[in-house]
Parts: sequence; C-alpha cells; structure tokens
Amino acid sequence: MMQNYDVIVIGAGAAGLSAAALLAKEGKSVLVVERSPFLGGRGMATPDEGYELNLGAHLMEDSGSGLTRIFEHVGKTLGHGPSNTDMPVWNHETEQWGSIRDRYSGSKDELKAVIKALVDTPYEELERWDDRPMRAWIQQYTNHQGVIDLFEFITVMECMTEDWWDHSASENLFVRKMHYEEKNTAAYSYWPVGGWQKLFTDLRDAIEENGGEVRLGQPVSRVLMDGGEVKGVALPRAGAVLPNEIFHEDEVRAPVVISTLPVWHVLNIVDEHALPEWYVDQIKQMAQDKNRISWAGLYMATEEPIPVLDRQEIATWLHSPVARASGFMFEMSALDESVAPDGKHLYVMGAMLHGFGRNGDMGFVKQKFDEFEQDVETMWPGLADHVFKRRHLVYDPSFGVIQKPGLVGSFRPHWKAPNIQGLYFASETFKSRGIGIDRAARAGLSAVEDILGRRLWPLDEGFRY
Ligand SMILES: Cc1cc2nc3c(=O)[nH]c(=O)nc-3n(C[C@H](O)[C@H](O)[C@H](O)COP(=O)(O)OP(=O)(O)OC[C@H]3O[C@@H](n4cnc5c(N)ncnc54)[C@H](O)[C@@H]3O)c2cc1C
Repeated sequence: MMQNYDVIVIGAGAAGLSAAALLAKEGKSVLVVERSPFLGGRGMATPDEGYELNLGAHLMEDSGSGLTRIFEHVGKTLGHGPSNTDMPVWNHETEQWGSIRDRYSGSKDELKAVIKALVDTPYEELERWDDRPMRAWIQQYTNHQGVIDLFEFITVMECMTEDWWDHSASENLFVRKMHYEEKNTAAYSYWPVGGWQKLFTDLRDAIEENGGEVRLGQPVSRVLMDGGEVKGVALPRAGAVLPNEIFHEDEVRAPVVISTLPVWHVLNIVDEHALPEWYVDQIKQMAQDKNRISWAGLYMATEEPIPVLDRQEIATWLHSPVARASGFMFEMSALDESVAPDGKHLYVMGAMLHGFGRNGDMGFVKQKFDEFEQDVETMWPGLADHVFKRRHLVYDPSFGVIQKPGLVGSFRPHWKAPNIQGLYFASETFKSRGIGIDRAARAGLSAVEDILGRRLWPLDEGFRY
C-alpha cells in the first residue's frame, strides 16, 4: 500500500528522532522508519543482569544550545544530571594519578589568554582550521605544555583520538568555544536525568503527540529517486521468509527523505550511481575502516567504590602501562544509581585500538583486551575484585569518524545531497560539529531548518550549519 508523508526519516537515533520531533512540531506529517526494535541507535540502552548498559560509555556533551534547546522547542525537558568539574589523569612516567589542574596551575594567565582568544574567534574563522592540528592553533598563544595538555586530554576523553596531538583544531575548538561560552568551563558532560531510554522515549512521544509516526523493527531497503528528485523509500515485504528475497517491496512516498545512516552504511540504501562521483568518493573516504574510532571496552562492577578524585569524574590517560593505549574510565552509578543493582558500583572504560581498522586483526583485539585488563588492575587495584564484567568491541558500530585534520568540516560530505532534490544526510559522520549524540541532534536541526526554509531560533543561540 502506498502512503504519503511530507518527510520520511530513516533511523530512530538521536539525529532522526530530533529531526522528526522538530518537523512534527512544525506541522509536517512525518514517518520515522527504524530497522532495530529499539529506539536510540548507537545511543540505545539495555538491561543486562540488573545493570543498565549502553553499546559503550555514554555521556551527554550539550552545553545547552543543542539537544537541550531542541527538547525545549518540542515541549519537553532534557534535565542535566551530575556533571564533572575536574579530570583525573594518569601520569605514565610516574605511574600515578593526579589532577589535570596540577598541569596548568602554574600558567593560569596563559590559559586565560587562550580561552579569551577562543571566545573572541568567530565560529566562521574556526572553519579555516579543518586541515590543521589543534596544537598548532594553541601554539599561536602559548607553548606551555600544561595548557596544551588540558586541551589534548579532553580530545582523548571526548573523542578517543588515538593520536591526541593530531586532533583537528576546528573540530575541538568548536566544542571548547561552546562549552566556555555557554557553561564557562573547558568540557561540559553530564548524565541525562532519567537516563538514556527516557531521553529517546521523550523524543518519540514528542513526535507522536504532534501527529508523527515511528515504526520500529522496519528496515528501509532503498531510497526511491527519480529524475533528480527523491520520491520516498522502499520497505521490504513484511513476512518475507527467504533471507535473500529482494525487490518485493512496499513503497512509502514523500518529497523529502532524511537518512541518518552513518557514512559506513548509507550506500546500502542510497544508489551511489544517482549521486555525483566526487560526492560518493567523499563518503567512501570517510567510511574507510582506518577512519573508524574503535576501542576495547569494559564494563566492570564492584562492591566498593574506587574513586581517584571525586566519584563523578572521568579519568583519562595517554599510555596505559601494558597496552600502551590511551583511554577513559568513569563510574556510571555515581551519575545515576539506577544503572546498577543496590550496593553495586558500575564502571565503564575503554582503551583505543590504535590501528585496528587498518589491519582488522582479531588476534590483536584479543591481546589488547588481555593487556587492558592487566592495566586496569594496576591503575585501579580495586577492580581486581569485580563482581560483573562485560567486554565489548567498539568498532561496528563505531563511536564515529576520527577527527583528524583533513577528515572534518568541509572535508566531510555535505548533509544535503547534491543534485537530488529533497534528500538529506543528517548524521554526525557527515558535515557537522559537536560531540556524538548532541552533534547528531544538531545535524538533524540543520536539515530541518533547510527543509523549512527558516531558522527555528536565532543562530546566536547556538551553533549549527
Ligand atoms: C560505544 C559508543 C560510545 C559512545 N559514547 C558517546 C558519548 O559518551 N557521548 C556521546 O555524545 N556520544 C557517544 N557515542 C556516539 C553516539 O552514540 C552517536 O554519535 C549518536 O548516537 C549517533 O546518532 P545518529 O542518530 O547520528 O546515528 P545512529 O544512532 O547510528 O542512528 C542511525 C539509525 O539508523 C538505523 N538504520 C540503519 N540502517 C537502517 C535501514 N536500512 N533502515 C532503517 N533504519 C536503519 C540504525 O539502526 C540506527 O538506529 C558513542 C557511540 C558508541 C558506539
């Protein structure tokens, strides 16, 4: 049966639910089609033996003008739960923990000068730094290692940048500028009040309350295009038994389609021959395995808390003792005690799999997990007495495309398909700015404003394209 909508959104993750909630609020008839039976995409949360786990560590990094603002617009509230104020860092030379503040405490004036320069620099100027490392931008104002450390440890914590000294200037500075301007702090991350499932359910409710529709467990097989225009999507026939059945499809029609699939999956449903070759090349460049952020992830729970500084802080390091990998660790149950059974403390941590995407060697992954488990017992001896453990490989899905110079901003494929009227790619792996969930939501917002032909709120209330 053929149905007609104003807009079809493919994917019910942060980007798709944000875009659809805004469009429904603005009076558009919207259908969201999601392959998985769950809401949330890469941000989904799921119970496991009394614990509430995500695909890996998740914290929100919206200082107020992104997803929080989108929630307000659609009549919901995104509560900001506990947020961290310090950062424990591991000194791999002395093999001891310290605070990031110790590194720059003797150079506060130099840090202030860098912050002032950043706040005074317009976002448009930062766009010109897509092809240079962040260190080069900072060194215009200071060579103090403690100040550079502050910015570079944050790139490990926020983006798991394997070569932290080679993180893109524009990418990091966009976020730093937002966090300094909106929250007066270097890095702002928090646990969403009510948890991750509530966040995505609230967005779905906003869609449905405004007449939109969300279909879970329904894959899209193809985006329909004809004569340079998008026509809708094709859905595989319900009840198909043969796993390789093809072209028995139902069609749903709409003049606008927003795909939220990341670069590494999008060409499964969009015929690349309908797009210009240079644009397909851009997608494929980003989608290369070597550009996927990947890490060895561990969930561990203990009977006793094992804080380094405050229980709510996120710890980072550049070289763990054995795996020699950079990474992060925090206690989820210190931010939301409902994620662990009574009396248990749930920790999540990850060690970058430097180069895994280039060699795809599972033996290397197994070795890194073994080494990382030795590391965590050196760095937090209390973890030796864990009562729960889950290893998880962050690769497919990946956190995102690595944010190195030449792989960000204007080097990424644009979110509006060239030469196909009505086709949008709202994904944090396409041209976008921010971190993870919030970045995906901002990507959704950019597409929605283009579709509506107007800004929903002024640009000075927060960055988006
Ligand atoms: C382990 C891990 C840890 C992370 N940690 C953080 C963090 O701490 N903070 C943070 O902000 N971000 C984090 N991220 C990143 C964050 O999860 C993503 O950036 C964000 O969820 C992306 O949202 P999205 O909507 O753009 O894409 P996705 O969530 O990938 O949504 C795309 C959706 O499309 C659906 N889909 C795919 N193919 C089809 C099809 N053919 N038909 C229909 N539907 C389809 C998928 O099932 C999916 O639901 C993490 C990611 C991972 C993997």
